[in-house]
Amino acid sequence: MKQMMFGAALTIAAFGSAAAQTPSGWRAHDLSRPRPPVVAPGAAAEPVPAPSDAIVLFDGTGVSAWRNHDGGPAGWVVRDGAMEAVPGTGFVYTRQAFGDVQVHLEWAAPMPPKDTGQGRGNSGVFLMEEYELQVLDSWHNDTYADGQAGAAYGQYPPMVNASLPPGSWQSYDIVFRRPRFDSAGVLVAPARMTAFQNGILIQDDVALWGPTNWLQANPYVAGPPRGSIGLQDHGNPVRYRNIWARELPEGPEPTPTPVPAGVVLNSAELDRMVGAYRNGGTVFTITRAGATLIVDIQEGRTQRLIPLSPTEFALGVTAATITATPGPTGRPSRLTFRMGATAFDLTAEPGNGK
Ligand code: MG
Repeated sequence: MKQMMFGAALTIAAFGSAAAQTPSGWRAHDLSRPRPPVVAPGAAAEPVPAPSDAIVLFDGTGVSAWRNHDGGPAGWVVRDGAMEAVPGTGFVYTRQAFGDVQVHLEWAAPMPPKDTGQGRGNSGVFLMEEYELQVLDSWHNDTYADGQAGAAYGQYPPMVNASLPPGSWQSYDIVFRRPRFDSAGVLVAPARMTAFQNGILIQDDVALWGPTNWLQANPYVAGPPRGSIGLQDHGNPVRYRNIWARELPEGPEPTPTPVPAGVVLNSAELDRMVGAYRNGGTVFTITRAGATLIVDIQEGRTQRLIPLSPTEFALGVTAATITATPGPTGRPSRLTFRMGATAFDLTAEPGNGK
């Protein structure tokens, strides 16, 4: 399925009225929506150790990183290194709130399986408490496409059904980008989700229409930029282990070092740089196009030379410089290429200037 165009996210205000359609054209939970193809994962998930910058949310020993819906202790139990949903105790939520985040976790649906459809091994990973990546036993268990394991619930079916049998440990790796609102509370960028199940891509940077819900189409509402990660109690003792999260940078990218403006060289200064320069098998070829010098540093990969002086040049694309050492005729006898700690000389070919 094609991703929703960004502009469509902004029309979501109309979604939910009687006449409006969903951005995908599919109504939620349409049973005629094609089921994603089944792909067999290579193996059951092995625990993926948390990287050094991860916030460990469950390491098999306790649920202190989690709370219930009103802030009290999480009602789930820890058994055999896994935290298990206790039906009726409600969702559990991380005590820490996250905005843009990478989440890894492993989950297992109950074995032996019970019930069918949405009643079999149902849970879910809720980003910011609002956006569910569905957890369901989708091993030979049909349900609506946008409600099976790996669905952005009610919105985007997984690209494939990468489910393992109940009782197997399965991994989710999720990249979540929170929705952005302007200072007036108007949505400027929808929430986005990428996800892998058992190492297989199931959601490819999809733009969510709004919070995920059952039988509801809720528009975005501006709120805090961070929220808890929730795990759903849907009445099934689904187990989780090895849960960790990495906060993703949200700030602006570092500002690039400006490309030098350069100085203007006269025609003679430009002409005398033209030629070929060699260091073993490496040949730089400088040509002139009007007032611009072009250097070919790698067999046809050209870039502009920005004159800093008649003998000093910056490269337009690579953060490197070329310094010309004039020979007896005034033409360069040698170029020195410098890029960071790398520097080497290239000798003028005999044919230069002829
Ligand atoms: Mg669910």
